[in-house]
Amino acid sequence: MDVIVRRGDSLWYYSQLFHLNLQLILDSNRELQPNQLSIGQRIRIPGFVAQDYQVQPGDSLWSIARNRNLPLDAVLLVNQNINPNQLQVGQMIKVPIRITWRLVQGRQFYDYTKMMRDIRRLQSVYPFMQVSTIGESVLGNNIPELLVGNGTKRIHYNASFHANEWITTPVLMTFINDYLLSLTNQNLIRGIVTSRLYEQTSLSIVPMVNPDGVSLVINGPPEVEPWRSRVVELNRGRTDFSDWKANIRGVDLNDQFPAKWEEERARNPDEPGPRDYGGERPLSEPEAVAMAELTRRRDFARVLAFHTQGRVIYWGYENLEPPESEIIVNEFARVSGYEPVKTIESWAGYKDWFIQDWRRPGFTVELGRGVNPLPLTQFDEIYQDVLGIFLAGLYM
Ligand SMILES: [Zn+2]
Repeated sequence: MDVIVRRGDSLWYYSQLFHLNLQLILDSNRELQPNQLSIGQRIRIPGFVAQDYQVQPGDSLWSIARNRNLPLDAVLLVNQNINPNQLQVGQMIKVPIRITWRLVQGRQFYDYTKMMRDIRRLQSVYPFMQVSTIGESVLGNNIPELLVGNGTKRIHYNASFHANEWITTPVLMTFINDYLLSLTNQNLIRGIVTSRLYEQTSLSIVPMVNPDGVSLVINGPPEVEPWRSRVVELNRGRTDFSDWKANIRGVDLNDQFPAKWEEERARNPDEPGPRDYGGERPLSEPEAVAMAELTRRRDFARVLAFHTQGRVIYWGYENLEPPESEIIVNEFARVSGYEPVKTIESWAGYKDWFIQDWRRPGFTVELGRGVNPLPLTQFDEIYQDVLGIFLAGLYM
């Protein structure tokens, strides 16, 4: 919701008026000099919308404010052009509404278009969340990154490296939405004061690393040639893509990282296909390049890559992980019931490369159990299991 600055207003005053953490208002208006507000300037107030309201018989601005638990001045602020003493029945005014509900509906077939629409919605209500593009997929879809928080501890979560594990995207988007809601409403999540997480950490999220692959699994082959014929051919003529993990070129993005890539390549298919093909060389695919560049640029303290399935958390790589990885994974296991597994015979994954090059904690979290793509009926259970991991990833 936008408001227009009046004589004597300050961001601190708005934080009192709307019961919002001042930092969230500051971060929603990064381009401003907070001590030099000028009258008539537009300010974004996070976590609120201004709704139209038609004045009913017996209404006053005071009663309208009181019925919504708002100070009178909050209503006056969004109705600067009306005379509060001459309210007319039938007149349209604005009423600030505090948003206490989710904008993201995660329990549905959640493709790239739905995700982008939800990101735009979240960004307009929670402008303290920053959105940028880290690169493009093979088919030219922008891969977005969301940033939440002001802290020095830089943490990264990503989802949908693997196409048929797309349920990880709505699970992660639901968490972001719940985190944003708890920040503006000052609610606890599982007893945790999230404003402290916001101060201490900056959370980077890439909710869909492989948009082309996810679209293929959910919506079928792209309309455009040569991609349409090419993916059906790579899928051995089948039009059911439910076991497709790779990007649109048939390269498995989680076998693309320079961490014993040759060894991974040697045990896997040597040509493109639905899964496990590591490409002609490490980082040959634009989606993997975008993730590698982001990771180098941001210098993360810790990364979590969300996959399905198995209810396990992989936390080691060639004994290069630091001792704290084990402490952190034990907390993840405690809050989720998932099983920590140090290593399996597997290389060239994103978390492998992170551990190898930074010697910092990296995790692959395998959500749920069953056959991929996991059914949406598991959504709520998965979310309840992994919510503790999302939080522990920030507070540990
Ligand atoms: Zn996976």
